[in-house]
Amino acid sequence: MSEPTTKLYAQNGDPAFPKIVLPEIANLAQIEVYESHGGYGALKKALAMAPEAVTDEVKRSNLRGRGGAAFPTGLKWTFMPKGNEKPRYLAVNADESEPGSFKDRQILEFNPHQLVEGILIASYAMGIKTAYVYIRGEYYKWYKILEKAVADAYSRGYIGQNIGGSNYSVNLYVHRGAGAYICGEESGLMESIEGKRGYPRVKPPFPAQNGLWGNPTTINNVETLANVPAIIWNGAEWFSKIGAEKHPGTLLFGVSGHVNKPGVYELASGTLLTDIIFNYAGGVPGGKKIKMVIPGGSSMPPLRGEQLEGIRMDADSLRAVGSAIGTGGVIVMDEDTNLTRVLARIANFYWHESCGQCTPCREGTGWMRKVLNRMNDGAGKPEDLDLLLRVAGNIEGNTICALGDAAAWPVKFTIQRFRKELEEEILKREKSAA
Ligand code: SF4
Repeated sequence: MSEPTTKLYAQNGDPAFPKIVLPEIANLAQIEVYESHGGYGALKKALAMAPEAVTDEVKRSNLRGRGGAAFPTGLKWTFMPKGNEKPRYLAVNADESEPGSFKDRQILEFNPHQLVEGILIASYAMGIKTAYVYIRGEYYKWYKILEKAVADAYSRGYIGQNIGGSNYSVNLYVHRGAGAYICGEESGLMESIEGKRGYPRVKPPFPAQNGLWGNPTTINNVETLANVPAIIWNGAEWFSKIGAEKHPGTLLFGVSGHVNKPGVYELASGTLLTDIIFNYAGGVPGGKKIKMVIPGGSSMPPLRGEQLEGIRMDADSLRAVGSAIGTGGVIVMDEDTNLTRVLARIANFYWHESCGQCTPCREGTGWMRKVLNRMNDGAGKPEDLDLLLRVAGNIEGNTICALGDAAAWPVKFTIQRFRKELEEEILKREKSAA
């Protein structure tokens, strides 16, 4: 094995340098190329460590989940019961269905082996012998890339029996979903892997106690695990110094909407939101003002255009301004955006994706959709906004899974933060209809 290049595993430590997504290394998705840059070196290093030491390194790095909740990854790994003889599983969430989120597929396309390596290290750390990657059905191209990466890793002895000459054996399977958003919710995902309809489960019990087939299971996001090889190779301290202190590392920001250069930008956590929009994504077409930004995928509370200055993109900074990092999917809307139309589109999505198990979500998403579509058709009334707030309030916190909140929050927070604009849109449409 050759030493890693300065690019693979982010050896140069430049926070602005791409860390996981490395299109500048041609054909990195091929195992020979990945190996020639030192790939799978971190796995070999991990296998020479005690499993608990690997978990401890990840814990000390302060790596936090990249799938939405930003939960500490190493801590999550310690939730797996000790000394339990039952089978245990790792389920990797590659469902990525939140509108505005399209960053994990960059890893699958440009550096799938770093994900595979991260999965193997995580499995070793938790004593897991079977891991699954659950990938959304629409990601067929990326499924094929990942499937080949897994097959090649098997053929090289990185997956299978006694990997790397150790006593440790592990299998890895790639499981395709059929295109349901709700299968990105961790318990819906597990139901789907088990071959059932993707109905989310009531929690507790949590997956670490009662996951796949009733056995201990950890669920991690693609980007989260793709960070693990670099942490093991460079050490926890190195990682913990990149970006925001309490949410370190780089983040993959998927920028969409009214920007000149939409795309995925891998930057240090804590990067200014205005830097992302104006420097990396090239600003707003026509130099228009920004009306609204959703910073972390469609379900996160939106920010007003005039409040963006000084906001940093990490979990704690966004929480402090009443929003959340979510998946890092930044959706930019310029001053001409019709917010009623935006909300109607979002409401239609969550209504369509509700699994229908719980009444507040099943009925509430339908009511919000009806009211918003009526408003969008020009038949809205000013009192509709309070009606929508009441419906959203009856959904939030009253459902089995987080889809209920995901549907309620955009409506609730957009009305709270853009009430004047929404009232004007209603009045404008009333006048034009008269
Ligand atoms: Fe299904 Fe919605 Fe209830 Fe989640 S909140 S279980 S999606 S009905």
